[in-house]
Amino acid sequence: MANISELEKLRQHFNSGITRPYNFRKDQLKKLKASILKYEQELYDALYTDLKKSPEESWVTETGMVIAELNAAIKNLRSWMRPERAGTNLLNMPSRSRVIKEPLGVVLIIGPWNYPFQLLINPFIGAIAAGNCVVLKPSEFALATDAVMKKIVQDVFPPEYVLYVQGDGAVVVPEMMNNFSFDYVFYTGSTTVGKIIYKMAAERLVPVTLELGGKSPCIVESDANIKVAARRIAMTKFSNAGQMCVAPDYVLVHESVKDNFMATMKETVQKFFTDKPEENYNYCKMINERQFNRVAGYLSNGKIVYGGRTDKEKLFIEPTILSDIPPDAPVMNEEIFGPVLPVIPFNTMEEAKAVIDRHPNPLSFYVYTSSNKKEKEWLETVPAGGCCVNNSSWHLTNHHLPFGGRGFSGTGNYHGRYSFETFSHKKAVMKTPTWFDPNIKYPPFKGKLKLFKWVIR
Ligand code: NAD
Repeated sequence: MANISELEKLRQHFNSGITRPYNFRKDQLKKLKASILKYEQELYDALYTDLKKSPEESWVTETGMVIAELNAAIKNLRSWMRPERAGTNLLNMPSRSRVIKEPLGVVLIIGPWNYPFQLLINPFIGAIAAGNCVVLKPSEFALATDAVMKKIVQDVFPPEYVLYVQGDGAVVVPEMMNNFSFDYVFYTGSTTVGKIIYKMAAERLVPVTLELGGKSPCIVESDANIKVAARRIAMTKFSNAGQMCVAPDYVLVHESVKDNFMATMKETVQKFFTDKPEENYNYCKMINERQFNRVAGYLSNGKIVYGGRTDKEKLFIEPTILSDIPPDAPVMNEEIFGPVLPVIPFNTMEEAKAVIDRHPNPLSFYVYTSSNKKEKEWLETVPAGGCCVNNSSWHLTNHHLPFGGRGFSGTGNYHGRYSFETFSHKKAVMKTPTWFDPNIKYPPFKGKLKLFKWVIR
């Protein structure tokens, strides 16, 4: 638990100006990279302990993503920090205008357990690149990864610059947020806790990014390449045993290709994870018993077309495909966040849209189609945080794209340059020369209206 004097030390450290220069920021990014690489093997072991994640999956979705983000930050930091030139309107001529990217101050970053490393460290990269002091609060449910992250951070950063705070979020986060004014809070986790964070931040007018969850729909159109669609959906739905915020939550498949899609999905899932996924190298486990019980409860919400086996002791739930689901079933009303895939047939776009509209503004939206017209129609019809066409989830691994939700799936975005901007204040600066100071700008104003109308038009 952090006490207030520790948080005040971060404020003093920030106010000293030490974190502002380009060279300081770049050195910290390099130190972080070296520390991650030093503990790479320990990270793989920890991610295996917490989620039974293989090193390959861990590299693609955790360590590799973080290293790519770090490389982009180290390479582009100077250009990100450069003030942006801005135009000046006639009213203010001959002034000159620019936008300076100013660090925010002391920021709090709160992470979840499903990608415990990447989802804490990626925003952290943006925060230090932007010149802030940082409090890191990892999830208390991925304990092995938490322990390694603590070493990675504490090996290279003093606590007055980066403070690593462990513990029960419901206790330690309110204690910090209600007694200390952070300059920014970046939160990744459930919508329920997101609302609590938003309220606490509002009390002190602290700006926030909320990276939340929700039900991300996936459309398979009548003209989709079914083989490719099945491979990409199976891969992203069952990766990390479905515990992925951008996993396709459910599939809406056009009635005309439903049978083909179902058969291809079954074949694909079997090929990827075998008949014994619990022993398969590529298949993860549920994080804990609570999540296991919650997701296992969905198995009775429809007809099991594939999978359905569980093993509580191993926290194992087989990749499962469900059909014939009543619209009011919990599996269609809550974020699944596990390896259960409801498949619902549709005939018209309106019919599919009615299902999606029950949970508006999803974090992600996926459409599989070979028609540009349908692609355009779908993209214009479904407001969402981000989208993939003929793919699922991978958009979040491209650091050139902003990643974030809208409405119930969150507010704000990050990755690459967008992270740097999230953790910077855009300060408007106008510089006015003194050699030109016409009387027209000063009282008395009587009789100047016509001229003012000409200047401001
Ligand atoms: P969670 O909301 O339970 O926990 C996230 C963090 O909040 C943890 O660090 C926890 O300690 C802290 N916390 C818990 N209760 C708190 C409270 N009362 N006050 C303050 N802090 C508290 O979320 P989770 O179960 O770890 O993650 C699962 C959810 O996160 C899913 O809904 C998923 O979709 C979402 N998620 C979103 C993204 C994204 O990028 N948008 C990524 C991963 C997960």
